[in-house]
Amino acid sequence: MDCGIPFCQSETGCPIGNIIPKWNELVFCDQWYDALQRLLMTNNFPEFTGRVCPAPCEGACTLGINELPVGIKSIECAIIDRGFAEGWIKPCPPTKRSGRTVAIIGSGPAGLSAADQLNKAGHLVTVYDRNDRMGGLLMYGIPNMKLDKRLVQRRIDLMAAEGITFVPNAHVGKNVDAQELRAAHDAVVVATGATWPRDLPIPGRKGAGVHFAMEYLQLNTKSLLDSELQDDKYINAQGKHVIVIGGGDTGNDCIGTAVRHGAASVTNFELLPQPPQERAKDNPWPQFPRVFKIDYGHEEADQQYGKDPREYCVLSKEFVRDETSGQLQGIKTVRVEWTKDESSGRWAMQEVPGSEQFFKADLVFLSMGFLGPEEALIRQLDVKTTRTSAIETPKGKYTTSVPGVYAAGDCRRGQSLIVWGINEGRQAAREVDQALTGSTQLPISGGLVERNYKQWEEIMEPGQQGLAATAKVVA
Ligand SMILES: Cc1cc2nc3c(=O)[nH]c(=O)nc-3n(C[C@H](O)[C@H](O)[C@H](O)COP(=O)(O)OP(=O)(O)OC[C@H]3O[C@@H](n4cnc5c(N)ncnc54)[C@H](O)[C@@H]3O)c2cc1C
Repeated sequence: MDCGIPFCQSETGCPIGNIIPKWNELVFCDQWYDALQRLLMTNNFPEFTGRVCPAPCEGACTLGINELPVGIKSIECAIIDRGFAEGWIKPCPPTKRSGRTVAIIGSGPAGLSAADQLNKAGHLVTVYDRNDRMGGLLMYGIPNMKLDKRLVQRRIDLMAAEGITFVPNAHVGKNVDAQELRAAHDAVVVATGATWPRDLPIPGRKGAGVHFAMEYLQLNTKSLLDSELQDDKYINAQGKHVIVIGGGDTGNDCIGTAVRHGAASVTNFELLPQPPQERAKDNPWPQFPRVFKIDYGHEEADQQYGKDPREYCVLSKEFVRDETSGQLQGIKTVRVEWTKDESSGRWAMQEVPGSEQFFKADLVFLSMGFLGPEEALIRQLDVKTTRTSAIETPKGKYTTSVPGVYAAGDCRRGQSLIVWGINEGRQAAREVDQALTGSTQLPISGGLVERNYKQWEEIMEPGQQGLAATAKVVA
């Protein structure tokens, strides 16, 4: 690759420490099978990150200093897709069982990667989820057009064939008692995500037409999978004027979904100003670039309605409703401006006098971030939480205040990314394994410990043992 020091594989670039230059090189040398093994050493689910990761690795790519970065994410996706297409990925259950049992609550990327690692280490793993389908936000958050649900199900089926038990419709803290679950297992990993949505308590909030983004997205995917949107059990934006309040992945996914429903118009409010086209001085390479981006939803809305849907520096003041029917008519807004206090460095927001506006809306989706994990389970397990209501663990650790209970993913770190969920699940699994057996061969963050090559040798099929040695040389 000849990129000097490759920052893509550092923690700034890749939270799971994918050794990117190695598999890029293997692909270049047409050694796809070896590239796949190198990739799988650090990433349990490249078919997800290869499709929907925002690719901080590309932001940290050395080539990106003065040119377009290497298309790392596409290469990752091509490697794993080829692995499945060639039949190289097969169920690979552990040869020995430890006799220890672990319950994982939540089947998002954090819960799934913890389950995958602990199963590899020989423990009997059961994953509980309150939803009827497994996958967390991979299944019921990120829409189907962005991440095909057949790919999520393929991975779940593979893990089940490797010996992991999945229990859907198990809402721990409600229809499954958390303490009983704890008593029945040697360890519990809480990976329940952070889906408690931030509300917008302005006048007119109560009443029909205003929904949290996740309600819209989850119902849509469920109806799509259950009935190809024929069961009428979703919020249909067809012919409606839609406003999405808040951006990020969630806001963008609401925009993309509303466009597909055939909305009459789609507008997206952002409270912050439009990001710069190029990196600002305080956001140098190799940091994740905080620059103006056009995601698929913005592009599609632009094509459909003739303009980018985003309106910047907009503060929503009131949901306007018909006085007699209560039906939503629109939103009163005001523009804001942001100024930086030079001494404290803090940004302050002021309303711009005379900038009041009315935006017509039949449907509004609130996508203003998430406040933390939902509380019922946390109360039943009696684990301590932080000021921001995440589950508290010591710095860099995954143990909670309750012995034998661990936390990983968004419920511990706050709403984040799939790749961070995978990293947290892997690290929590390592701690659990260590506690259950007194030692662990599961890899540390960002790569492999030496002993893991041995582990790979053990799980290789006859005739492939040389591969671990190859991987060692490559690494
Ligand atoms: C709409 C949307 C789009 C996103 N797009 C992207 C993207 O493109 N790229 C990216 O990297 N990240 C994206 N993210 C963020 C990413 O999906 C999350 O950071 C990641 O899924 C967190 O993983 P997790 O395993 O911690 O939790 P989750 O994926 O949230 O999974 C938690 C699971 O726990 C279950 N659960 C909760 N409470 C209980 C309980 N009491 N009992 C049983 N089960 C329970 C939930 O049903 C859920 O299935 C997106 C997020 C959203 C909301």
